[in-house]
Amino acid sequence: SLVTVLFHLGEMATATQSLDEDTFAVLGEELGYKIEIVSPEDEDRELLGTFDIDLEGELSAEDEAELMPRPPVVTVMGHVDHGKTKLLDAVRSSDVVAGEAGGITQHIGAYQVHVEHEDQDRAITFIDTPGHEAFTAMRARGAKVTDVAILVVAADDGVMPQTIEALNHAQAANVPIVVAVNKVDKEGANPSKVMQQLTEYNLVAEQYGGETMFVEISALKRMGIKELLEAVLLTADAELELRANPEKNARGIAIEANLDKGRGAVATVLIQSGTLRQGDAIVAGTAYGRVRALFDEYGKSLDEAGPARPVQVLGLSSVPRAGDTFLVTSDDRTARQIAEKRDAIERNAAQARSRKRISLEDFTKALEEGKVDTLNLILKGDVSGAVEALEDSLLKIDVGDDVALRIIHRGVGAITENDINLATVDNAIVIGFNVRPEAKARDLAEREGVDVRYYSVIYGAIDDIENSLKGMLKPEY
Ligand code: GDP
Repeated sequence: SLVTVLFHLGEMATATQSLDEDTFAVLGEELGYKIEIVSPEDEDRELLGTFDIDLEGELSAEDEAELMPRPPVVTVMGHVDHGKTKLLDAVRSSDVVAGEAGGITQHIGAYQVHVEHEDQDRAITFIDTPGHEAFTAMRARGAKVTDVAILVVAADDGVMPQTIEALNHAQAANVPIVVAVNKVDKEGANPSKVMQQLTEYNLVAEQYGGETMFVEISALKRMGIKELLEAVLLTADAELELRANPEKNARGIAIEANLDKGRGAVATVLIQSGTLRQGDAIVAGTAYGRVRALFDEYGKSLDEAGPARPVQVLGLSSVPRAGDTFLVTSDDRTARQIAEKRDAIERNAAQARSRKRISLEDFTKALEEGKVDTLNLILKGDVSGAVEALEDSLLKIDVGDDVALRIIHRGVGAITENDINLATVDNAIVIGFNVRPEAKARDLAEREGVDVRYYSVIYGAIDDIENSLKGMLKPEY
């Protein structure tokens, strides 16, 4: 049997255990097969291949000459109340072009501003949802939207838990960071302390011999904004070669979408390459249709839009999810067929994933089999006192040496999609104390097979976790 072969390869396995990729490769070799592990991205690429769509062709030699510089795409992250929203407002109103057009009026999920930089007119695209939530949601789908992250740190408060969370997310995604040291107008502001604190996280200021740009700003007084935008451009130019071919059928990523009563599915997409035009047949995730209208952040109707431009698209059959890729196809039929095939693939994948996700009940077994050594938890409660009390008690559980308990995120309020996304990325269990999930979060948890547990007494939660860690939690049927 396979188990025997594995045993001879020095691998102890049971018949139902899942194996890592390396083991599969060795196993295949032993049995005389070549084993290929197909990732969801590969699978999608293969699907598109059957429709003669080759995304790799994008960078072939003949295209090289057609590649044009494109604007960087920026996400603003940082601790709550450190000024992310204010910064996005300040940037929005700093736009020279916006002044003429009467200002950016629509919130479509992203906007573009223009700055004079080294005598050139340069554009920068901002994702208009502050925080790392959107970033995480898109990463959970494998989408890479952000080129540069602005990490906002209030100079009167310094580095806080979500500052670290945000920079971890950016660093894990290999996204260069520019630090905006905000609120320097405030009494008690201490920018050099921020600089010093962040050196611990490999963000070393140029002044200290590092490579990270720190810019002092006041989002409130709108000071330092131009310098910050220049720092973004300098960082992008130094570390990334951002180019795209505008002369192709468009493709990119959906960053926000909703169902509008009058207009149907409205999706904001970020074009990553090519040019999107009215009348194009498109597929976005499992939604498809024909571009009926395009709007920019000024609410202006457009005929077409090029690389790094965010635009609202009307005409899709359903609402795509943030992070879904979109592309233009040769005709309507192809778009529909791709959407339908994707839908089928997704259902299968979701089933497979939810089988693989850990629940508190299988944690014990996985622990015994040595497949896990950390129980990751996300805590949500109705009041902060309860969340803290729960966290304190959980961290007091004597778990022994072989296993660790890690609380990767905590917060007050209903369980949100972001909580579930974080849980899928880190294979965590979500604990809700006197809170319920939002409807969307519940659906997502179900789709992804994330274990969400509800308690109304702290000891109920403590008991379950303790029992699971000690191997005594009985499966619920
Ligand atoms: P977010 O939670 O990170 O989006 O933070 P907000 O942008 O909502 O800002 C939180 C609070 O800090 C608000 O009351 C802002 O007015 C204030 N704030 C933001 N930037 C500055 C600043 O540069 N200086 C001062 N003094 N206050 C600021």
